Amino acid sequence: MPEKQRILTGDTPTGRLHLGHWVGSLENRVLMQDEYDCYFILANIHALTTRAEHPEKIYQDTLDIAIDFLCTGIDPQKSCIFVQSDIPAISELTFIFSMLIPFPRLMRNPTIKDEIRDKGLGDSYPFGFLLYPIGQVADILAFRPALVPVGEDQIPHLEMTREVARRFNQLYCGVDPHSEDAKHIAEGGLFPIIEPKLGRVKRLVGTGGPNEQGQLLKMSKSLNNSILLTDDADSVQRKVMAMYTDPKRLKATDPGSIDNNPLWIFHDTFNPDKAWVTEAKARYQAGNIGDVECKKRLVEVLTAFIAPLHQKRLDLEKNMDYVKDVLRKGSEKANHTADETMRLAKGAMHQVF
Ligand code: ATP
Ligand code: MG
Repeated sequence: MPEKQRILTGDTPTGRLHLGHWVGSLENRVLMQDEYDCYFILANIHALTTRAEHPEKIYQDTLDIAIDFLCTGIDPQKSCIFVQSDIPAISELTFIFSMLIPFPRLMRNPTIKDEIRDKGLGDSYPFGFLLYPIGQVADILAFRPALVPVGEDQIPHLEMTREVARRFNQLYCGVDPHSEDAKHIAEGGLFPIIEPKLGRVKRLVGTGGPNEQGQLLKMSKSLNNSILLTDDADSVQRKVMAMYTDPKRLKATDPGSIDNNPLWIFHDTFNPDKAWVTEAKARYQAGNIGDVECKKRLVEVLTAFIAPLHQKRLDLEKNMDYVKDVLRKGSEKANHTADETMRLAKGAMHQVF
């Protein structure tokens, strides 16, 4: 049997997982578990970039996301779930990789600029915030995966991962600078030039209105605009009923716009009854159906998906020893792979004494 190809992806413990995670990455992870050797990282060191003063919250969120993984069908018998701070090779690789990217290149990363703006970080973010994309390169390359399932906002980070891998392979493994990406490993490179795998929705919007530039923000743990995968029924109801829709529509008989309208983005994404959605959209545009009716239908659709996950969360919360055991065993396996990468990297760099 040939070895399975690896997948690496994960989440920062800055809150519990939401619907954007599901359509952006988690759904793919669950689907790919049998075919690939999967590694899912809980990036608790990255969470320090914006919450260094709240380590206890990061600890709780790390456990909470592990629970979310288990609730949504990630099976620890098949996939390795582990905590970033348990893997020393990742920190070592971060330092080494930080030498391979020019600082101005880092500052041109659009995701970094968006995060500074949308999270209101101003100029008060720590040096480590700028280091985190390199840390993410190390998270990924430590496992030398073929594929990385992510949402669209991660594409700039993955492009940097590809650049670092090419540079390392050229500098230290003798790979020709003109080599095609797909040939790097065959030509002696240590790191594969990874491919992103986008989810069925690349960037799900949040429940709130647009920013000053008129763009709807992505659903994000840090922006208080998310519906959680394990929310209770009351929270789903409250969040959907308060959701931003067409601000120009004051009553049900006003013609409504379905463009840039989270209500319809959510129906398109989650409602399996496509015939109802098509008909209701037409009625909405003609001023023949109220926001409240459409929102109530969305509550039903989302509750059917979320309620079983919420119940699983309640069960797992009573069994935290099991959850912690999953993480300990995961970290053991992850260290095995990452240590091997580290040994090979030091060998390639002639730093074995
Ligand atoms: P934070 O606000 O702390 O940055 P986040 O909600 O952006 O949190 P991350 O942990 O940064 O979540 O992202 C984890 C994964 O989920 C990444 O692959 C990211 O691209 C994907 N993802 C996050 N939000 C969305 C979204 N709204 N739509 C699609 N994919 C998403
Ligand atoms: Mg994010």
